[in-house]
Amino acid sequence: MRGRLRPTFQNFCAGSLINVLLIGSGGREHALAWALAASPLLAKLYCAPGNAGIAEVAACVALDAADHAAVVRFCTENSIGFVVVGPEMPLVAGIVDALSAAKIKVFGPSKAAAQLEGSKGFTKDLCREFSIPTGAYGRFTDVRSAKAYLAAQKLPIVIKADGLAAGKGVVIAETAAAAEQAVDACFAGVFGAAGAEVVIEEFLEGEEASVFALVDGEHVLPLATAQDHKRVGDGDTGPNTGGMGAYSPAPVMTPQMMRRTLDEIIQPTVRGMAARGMPFKGVLFLGVMITRDGPKLYEYNVRFGDPECQVLMMRLKSDLLAALIATADGVLDTFDLRWHDDTALTVVMAANGYPGDYAKDSEIRGLEKARALPGVEIFHAGTRRDGNRLLAIGGRVLCVTARGRSVVEAQARAYAALRAIDWPGGFYRTDIGWRAVARERAGP
Ligand code: AMP
Repeated sequence: MRGRLRPTFQNFCAGSLINVLLIGSGGREHALAWALAASPLLAKLYCAPGNAGIAEVAACVALDAADHAAVVRFCTENSIGFVVVGPEMPLVAGIVDALSAAKIKVFGPSKAAAQLEGSKGFTKDLCREFSIPTGAYGRFTDVRSAKAYLAAQKLPIVIKADGLAAGKGVVIAETAAAAEQAVDACFAGVFGAAGAEVVIEEFLEGEEASVFALVDGEHVLPLATAQDHKRVGDGDTGPNTGGMGAYSPAPVMTPQMMRRTLDEIIQPTVRGMAARGMPFKGVLFLGVMITRDGPKLYEYNVRFGDPECQVLMMRLKSDLLAALIATADGVLDTFDLRWHDDTALTVVMAANGYPGDYAKDSEIRGLEKARALPGVEIFHAGTRRDGNRLLAIGGRVLCVTARGRSVVEAQARAYAALRAIDWPGGFYRTDIGWRAVARERAGP
């Protein structure tokens, strides 16, 4: 087995360092770029398209990830030895297949394997076939049969557009009327092609956790756990967002729950995907509900979470690039990762109005002061430079992240940094990590 590690370390030992292209432009990609830039295996890091923060650690290039031929051409012309794909869109569209066909090594699943995120119905059927614990469900392509199924279900009930809907395709309906409305909206095209099929799923009660694992087609290397806050307002209220903050580890994910999640959910998924002839390679990101009966899967994603990635990268001690190459090379069975025992916590600063309409190009000041505080890193999610000025150009704009020996310390450090930032155009939640803080204060 040891000999199989050669592709990574032979390159390193021979002094032939690797040029890497990272695809994406959010806070997740800034955190990945930050970790990749520290790798002893790296020659030069490119990012397409990147943002103002990423530009501090990588050469940003104006490439369209949807244009696979252009990405392949860029890789060939710039001697790119490894590509890391951040977001789900290009994965579901098959960018890994295009790069692999051109013999360019890449981190991420094939188009077929990316269906785990690209089609909720696909994942539910896989769960059924391989006895993976998840909520009961039905798949529908017409309003009448969807509503007939709904009529026989208990409330609340979860209505999901089958395809990618930028995190907006899930409705938890408390009433029959709201459930029917959600079904109508999906079939009326509110989520475009993603809603041509609807999955109706049992509502799972419990506490949520995000679990991450590297998978090389056959072997699984669990990463750290995290918990995020999806709602825009304090106390987990208001509309859903892409995520307003996160922390790692997730205390709800005890070693025993992690063991069960690995044995009952992740391993059967990896075996099932291989049995279907579409082995999964990349990072598997599970949305798990810790129910009274144990962990149940409510969704798969096929890339790192945003903002969970930011806290994972803050805790990762080992070389990220080596781990991602080992995943692509299929040698995770001989690989291990080390983590800081600390807690990492990130708070998202978003533009006023988010997740609704928001203004662009307001100026942000004070980042240098905030970043100089102990244990703090600031990852950019939606920024651009205009001369010396830093401008906000996205809904989620900055991820203010800190490490500490306890959740309380990490939280205090992140909020101290937030207070040092001068951006009247933005806002943030003031209670990120509240569950973990309460647990910590209550003691073991
Ligand atoms: P998603 O957009 O798929 O991340 O889902 C949004 C949120 O809906 C998740 O973070 C969960 O809080 C919730 N959710 C999804 N499926 C279920 C389910 N079956 N039961 C309860 N909550 C769910």
